[in-house]
Amino acid sequence: MLAETKFAASRPLDEPAMGEPYLLTPGPLTTAYSVKQAMLRDWGSWDGDFRAMTADLRRRLLALTGDSRDEFDCVPMQGSGSFCVEAMLGSFVPKDGKVLVLANGAYGLRAAQTMQCIGRAYTLIDKGDYLPPRGDEVSAALEADPAITHVIAIHCETSSGILNPVAEISEAVYASGRKLLIDSMSAFGAIPLDVNEIRYEAMVSSANKCIEGVPGFGFVIARKSELEAAKGRSHSLSLDVHAQWAHMNRTGQWRYTPPTHVVAAFLEALRQHEAEGGVAGRGARYTLNRDVMVAGMRELGFETLLKDRWLSPIIVTFFNPAHANFAFDRFYDLMKAKGFIIYPGKLTMVDSFRVGCIGQMDEHVMRRVVEAAAQSLSEMGVDTAAPSPAAIAERAKLAA
Ligand SMILES: *Cc1c(COP(=O)(O)O)cnc(C)c1O
Repeated sequence: MLAETKFAASRPLDEPAMGEPYLLTPGPLTTAYSVKQAMLRDWGSWDGDFRAMTADLRRRLLALTGDSRDEFDCVPMQGSGSFCVEAMLGSFVPKDGKVLVLANGAYGLRAAQTMQCIGRAYTLIDKGDYLPPRGDEVSAALEADPAITHVIAIHCETSSGILNPVAEISEAVYASGRKLLIDSMSAFGAIPLDVNEIRYEAMVSSANKCIEGVPGFGFVIARKSELEAAKGRSHSLSLDVHAQWAHMNRTGQWRYTPPTHVVAAFLEALRQHEAEGGVAGRGARYTLNRDVMVAGMRELGFETLLKDRWLSPIIVTFFNPAHANFAFDRFYDLMKAKGFIIYPGKLTMVDSFRVGCIGQMDEHVMRRVVEAAAQSLSEMGVDTAAPSPAAIAERAKLAA
């Protein structure tokens, strides 16, 4: 798991303001001072200055996909990430289409719930909390059901932090002549999703994840032929990707009120992303964050839910210690008092918590996180963070 350190911490990161804790969460996350500062003025949404900002944003995001053949376009959409997932599913899946949803956590299940809400056919492969959907299972499911037209995969399933094998899934999807849609919300910008390496029709992400902006909009990056075909297909007025795309191309404007300050902050975040070395640089810093933090937590006796192979550099799930004195709420408060907001677990079977590796944090901050965890345990009278045998037995299922 040794990280490439070429770009990592190539520039000093901003500390949060006095008394403001670090957010060790999957977004909203700790942002740079200059990103927050970029919001200290107002823009008219119709004005040429803001239109130029929107065009710049689209161009910069598209560049991150390696689309050298000009086959894709970027369509920003107001709202949180889930709005974009819903917009993508409603716009690219025909009314008589059918989606295979690949789930291994809360976000995959949310995609299935979205299909239910928009009234389109779907079928679900639910792998539980921490096993990845594999290419051969996808092939088998597609072979068994010729009605399936599309597959949606979650790139990094943020509920466990698992990095799903999207390249393998993509191969299976296209070998069966179907189309792939990707929720890359918590991965895009730090984990490559190059259109020349991994085939897909559309992907979504949002402002407040690995690009390190503030929350308020998401974006769809889709093949232009799919954008054309999406005309008149959406179940929704405001979540119609084709309508937003066509309007933006015609007028340079968002269809309805854009989150102007969020866009300004995001442009600054994109400039910082580029200065850090783009996707490779961002990914290297997060990987080092994870490696330093996981190594330190393991020394305290904590164990990760996932094997190293599936650990993403985005967020890591740890089992709660089995020690009788351990209580998550108290641990949370003690960590917060030391300047670190951690994240509760989102698993169904075992008690866990999560620590994010993304945002304006580097390996030095992660060392302080581990120190804070050690101190918090000692204040609780917990001498080892080892999980229960039951939790370990659960994890043994991962041997597959
Ligand atoms: C954050 C996230 C979303 C979107 O969540 P919102 O709360 O709507 O922003 C969707 N999928 C994944 C994998 C995510 O990490």
